Amino acid sequence: MSELRDLYQEVIMDHKKKPRNFREIADANHMAHGNNPLCGDALVVYVKLNGETIEDVSFQGSGCAISVASASLMTESLKGKTLDEAQSLYDDVHKALTGESGGAELSGKLAVLGGVKEFPARVKCATLSWHTVHAAVDSDHDISISTE
Ligand code: ZN
Repeated sequence: MSELRDLYQEVIMDHKKKPRNFREIADANHMAHGNNPLCGDALVVYVKLNGETIEDVSFQGSGCAISVASASLMTESLKGKTLDEAQSLYDDVHKALTGESGGAELSGKLAVLGGVKEFPARVKCATLSWHTVHAAVDSDHDISISTE
């Protein structure tokens, strides 16, 4: 167990220190603002959709280590995916973190996000970027969501 915890810490801290895709996409055609007032996490997610494919996805903002690391992992995971693939990944992350519908196993680097369910107060931090990207692709204008 402690090995898993070490890995979890390592991946989270690596992505917090060096967030991937931490930038604006100038020609993004979808974006959304996400806020988690309980923790003070505030992110903007940019998406460039090309037909049904997520050609590029990025984020900016600030928050705790878990929210930033989750957003960074989210951008890495969704880039190049179709909207259908993104939807099923979104569903899996939601299930893995909340335990709803019997939970789900996450593969690859995303597996560390599953560790967050041991800390219920941080689940909203970890799901913020996922809710935000979901809202972004669902809308054709800049919208704001809040986890409250
Ligand atoms: Zn947070």
